[in-house]
Amino acid sequence: MSKQNIRNFCIIAHIDHGKSTLADRILELTQAVDKREMESQLLDNMDLERERGITIKARAVTLRYAAKDGQEYEFNLIDTPGHVDFGYEVSRSLAACEGAVLIVDATQGVEAQTLANTYMALEHDLEILPVLNKIDLPSAEPDRVAREVEDEIGLPCLDAPRISAKTGENVGEVLEAIVAGIPAPQGDETAPLQALIFDAVYDSYKGVIVYVRLREGGVRPGDRIRMMQTGAEFDVVEVGHMGALSLAPCDKLEAGEVGYITASIKSLRETRVGDTVTGADRPADEPLAGYRRVVPMVFCGIYPADGARYNDLREALDKLQLNDASLSFEPETSAALGFGFRCGFLGLLHLEIIIERLEREFDLDLVTTAPSVQYRITLTDGTVKLVSNPTDYPDPATIRSAEEPFVNGHIYTPTDYVGSLMELCQNRRGVFKDMKYLDATRVDLHYELPLGEIVYDFFDAIKSLSRGYASYDYDVKGYELSKLVRLDILINGDPVDALSLIVHTDKAYERGRKICEKLKDNIPRQLFEVPIQAAIGGKIIARETVRALRKDVLAKCYGGDITRKKKLLEKQKEGKKKMRQIGTVEIPSEAFTAVLKLD
Ligand code: GDP
Ligand code: MG
Repeated sequence: MSKQNIRNFCIIAHIDHGKSTLADRILELTQAVDKREMESQLLDNMDLERERGITIKARAVTLRYAAKDGQEYEFNLIDTPGHVDFGYEVSRSLAACEGAVLIVDATQGVEAQTLANTYMALEHDLEILPVLNKIDLPSAEPDRVAREVEDEIGLPCLDAPRISAKTGENVGEVLEAIVAGIPAPQGDETAPLQALIFDAVYDSYKGVIVYVRLREGGVRPGDRIRMMQTGAEFDVVEVGHMGALSLAPCDKLEAGEVGYITASIKSLRETRVGDTVTGADRPADEPLAGYRRVVPMVFCGIYPADGARYNDLREALDKLQLNDASLSFEPETSAALGFGFRCGFLGLLHLEIIIERLEREFDLDLVTTAPSVQYRITLTDGTVKLVSNPTDYPDPATIRSAEEPFVNGHIYTPTDYVGSLMELCQNRRGVFKDMKYLDATRVDLHYELPLGEIVYDFFDAIKSLSRGYASYDYDVKGYELSKLVRLDILINGDPVDALSLIVHTDKAYERGRKICEKLKDNIPRQLFEVPIQAAIGGKIIARETVRALRKDVLAKCYGGDITRKKKLLEKQKEGKKKMRQIGTVEIPSEAFTAVLKLD
């Protein structure tokens, strides 16, 4: 197909504004799939994503559209991940497009990610086509929302398509707007190959399937290709387009096109999102701009509740990593929890998704330690250490300075909730930057916040304080000096490594006290009194006590029946499996999880 008739675009939206639903309608209208075949929301193709209503992995699909001008067009619809944790992948997907369809829910209006995604799209020089969705709902106010888009984003919106992605009403207008409003790609087929990797998935038959946008040149089966950042080289086995339901191999991909390459690539590590594919024989002078190595932001220890399943956990993590290069893990041992893994994630949502998948798809019972960010510690001898595991926190006497990562956070909220949201930010050690009125009733609250304070439950807190109306978005700002300490928890005098935390000095007392209270409720009485203490550098700052109890299971059996006695003892043993022995005290696995939910 001539480049003139190709349109590469993505759909951007705040979560739940109807991105997946519109993608479905577009697939239907271009007859990529018929209604019966179509499982709802094809582009979100993992169960978990569907349940949570988010799109995790970017995917792309090539469609044919017969436009009103009588010509046929090739549409490459690139789906972007919908959460702040996956921001870099979003940016690479945008870089593969010339335009973006911006959906705004006509019952809600502009929200945090509407703005964040629009700014990102503008940074990539994309043409933006606003679309007002959900006009079938009685509460839709397309006129008001159109004005809001004009005022807040500065995009002409009065003539924007007003659609219902759900019923299909006016969706045809969106397709025509794409033809008319999004520029055709440019590029020179005869130049050396430059193809942007915007996604990659692992397939057990073909190896890694690399999703690319060709900027310059062409690629065909048999070509030798090189990944410009990693230097790895491969022989191309297959190239083609992504159909809605299957891959469609072809002879050649050319500048301007979106498609896939397979080359018997064994591991996702060699195909980094953002890297440039070039020809090994006639390489491009430079890689495409914008490559960034994705680094984990949040870390935690993951242990099997039943120590015997350590190898199952390792295999499960290996499998998940095959398709998720941003998940990192390495073995770790804890005196309290035994053998497990220190895992790194892009953010808390990513962490939750992985844990949920481990438990659900691999049937594992897990114990996790408190999520932690990576702190930067400068020692008195000048060496700099990155510490994400409290156990590695250096002796305070050897520390010159400590820094923690900060983010720029923006909360978009109706004015009614400003007071309580500001209080929340102050409690999380936020530094107020400014507050902008978006219109008469909504503001953009800008705070600098320590990442460590928001990795937990910040998002949930915002939602509940604003009854769901506020939304939020952040980007990482960098490291800043901070006053940090390691908080240790002692049970019956023994420190429990898996419960240690790195916290800000101002938060240490409160945190220590709450953890002790929580543990007291979750540790069953033992035959002796058990003190639970929180300490900083050997100094006790909080204490609770679990009273002693004489726990004699056999007391219930008055003499006689030996089989019944045996059964009871068996049962007690079962229960013990999930207990962790700390010195002389047995702690149920749940106690470790309980301290993570403090409020
Ligand atoms: P995404 O998070 O942007 O992908 O949003 P979805 O496409 O998953 O839509 C979120 C919710 O809004 C789903 O329950 C959809 O059924 C619903 N929805 C999407 N478009 C429309 C629409 O035009 N009208 C109505 N009434 N509901 C819609
Ligand atoms: Mg979706």
